[in-house]
Amino acid sequence: MNPGVAVYDGGCTCRFVRYRMATAPLFVHCCHCRWCQRESGSAFALNALIEADRVQLLAGDVEVIDTPSSSGKGQRFSRCPRCRVAVWSNYAGAGDAVRFVRVGTLDEPDRCPPDIHIFTLSKQPWFVLPPGTPAVPEYYKAGEYWPAASLERRQALLAAAQAPRVSSAEPS
Ligand SMILES: [Zn+2]
Ligand SMILES: [Zn+2]
Repeated sequence: MNPGVAVYDGGCTCRFVRYRMATAPLFVHCCHCRWCQRESGSAFALNALIEADRVQLLAGDVEVIDTPSSSGKGQRFSRCPRCRVAVWSNYAGAGDAVRFVRVGTLDEPDRCPPDIHIFTLSKQPWFVLPPGTPAVPEYYKAGEYWPAASLERRQALLAAAQAPRVSSAEPS
């Protein structure tokens, strides 16, 4: 990843929603939890975590759908109001300051490979974890895995948030 060098455009499948990530994401999760398997209809979800103010809506609008999450605190999916494809979500634990952009909706998803595999306890057995990418059975601490530049960006978020907590960009 090379933050700030290039933008990352994406959108829904009917092309009503178009958005831009202004920089590289903070970190990319490949989540193998059962919730992500259900919500994606696939074996995992691929989410690029990025500051909300670095995601710009270029066209269209999103509809926010409250969805249950494993913690009970909920997850808010932003979907195209026409084709209903989810373009990003927010977890209650991470607050509105961090968006989980669905990597598959980027025009060039290959540019955001996973930085970590999480909840591998429930990964589908045929999926072989790639060597060289961190993998954890459940969740993890950002301080132990995020690169220094992303931790600095996280500090800025925490400072800006003050009262409302941005705890650890943790899905909960
Ligand atoms: Zn659409
Ligand atoms: Zn998950």
